[in-house]
Amino acid sequence: MTTSSVVASESRLSSGSGHGPLPALTGAEIIAMARDAGITGRGGAGFPVWRKLAAVAAAGRPAVVIANAAEGEPASGKDKALLTAAPDLIVDGLELVARAVGARTTYLYAPAGAHSSLRSLPVELRTAPDAFVSGEESAAVAAVTGRDAVPADKRIRITESGAGGAPTLVQNVETLAHLALIARYGPGWFRAAGTADEPGTFLATISGAVRRPGAVVEAGYGVRLGDLIAAAGGPTGRLRAVLVGGYHGGWVPADPDLPVSRAAMARYGASPGAGVVVALPAGSCGLVESARIASYLAGAVAGQCGPCVNGLPRMAQTLSDLALRRVRPGLPAEVDRLARLVTGRGACRHPDGTARLVLSAMRAFDTDVAAHLSGHCLAEEGR
Ligand code: SF4
Repeated sequence: MTTSSVVASESRLSSGSGHGPLPALTGAEIIAMARDAGITGRGGAGFPVWRKLAAVAAAGRPAVVIANAAEGEPASGKDKALLTAAPDLIVDGLELVARAVGARTTYLYAPAGAHSSLRSLPVELRTAPDAFVSGEESAAVAAVTGRDAVPADKRIRITESGAGGAPTLVQNVETLAHLALIARYGPGWFRAAGTADEPGTFLATISGAVRRPGAVVEAGYGVRLGDLIAAAGGPTGRLRAVLVGGYHGGWVPADPDLPVSRAAMARYGASPGAGVVVALPAGSCGLVESARIASYLAGAVAGQCGPCVNGLPRMAQTLSDLALRRVRPGLPAEVDRLARLVTGRGACRHPDGTARLVLSAMRAFDTDVAAHLSGHCLAEEGR
């Protein structure tokens, strides 16, 4: 990619144009291709792509497709990098999924800052606001139809009734680019990277205590965490922990041999998500950093649902009290109670993701919790 480094052995998406025309596949063949490749969505949720395609196609009505490049996550830059490096692959992927689901209307939903370089593409552009929840599927649907980009009621499936009441497919732009390559080179080629259960490559944005923060790298699932960090120039010093999966992700040990895959990350309550990796230096307090992120997330809400209006600010404040050693009896239990209280209660998964990050911090930094409760900070004391 032009603005990033790429893990050399897995530079599929960065290989630019020159892949030749798209094969003339039918809609059914495209869905079967996605199933055989085992590709999952690269926007964070990791849902099997073929199931989503099949659900929209099964509606049997003219559909709408939205290529999602909203990327509201502050620590993520991979979709912006891809819009610059391989817009042709995104457009090809959009054409494929439109064929698969029977769509006549397609949009590219991207931040305003990316529009000037995209105007020549044969696709209708829509602006994604610079907000954390703007990339949520129902928020994207709202935005392309001229409403505020905030999530809607999750009981209404957009695959059945989305933009203008039409069955709607929202697909991350990286996913579309992978599909454009799979159509040319086949599911077997795609599966040659990654693991048997999690095939293919993914784009990761590496930031924090690395020599090239913000680097976007491409690697197969199962790549060693140390190799990803090395591809961003390596750590700037000893690391305390690594946040994987972004602000809705989880903290994992700074173990260079840890495989970056859903299977390996699950024991830490994390997953590769949209490929966001943040390295925490040894001199930083994980509780302070987690409280900062939780406060950001508590302020990044649409304010429509109880868990976000009441629960997230209280949870973030309680974690901040612990991080800043404003200690009172029962503080860890209160953080835990609030995290469980908000989970599953919002119109979208923002409260769930925020609670996941907070619970992960309480587990990963349990020795820091004990130290803070007795008035000490291990990071400040250089321990
Ligand atoms: S759960 Fe929170 S972020 Fe999601 S729609 Fe409701 S208020 Fe907005």
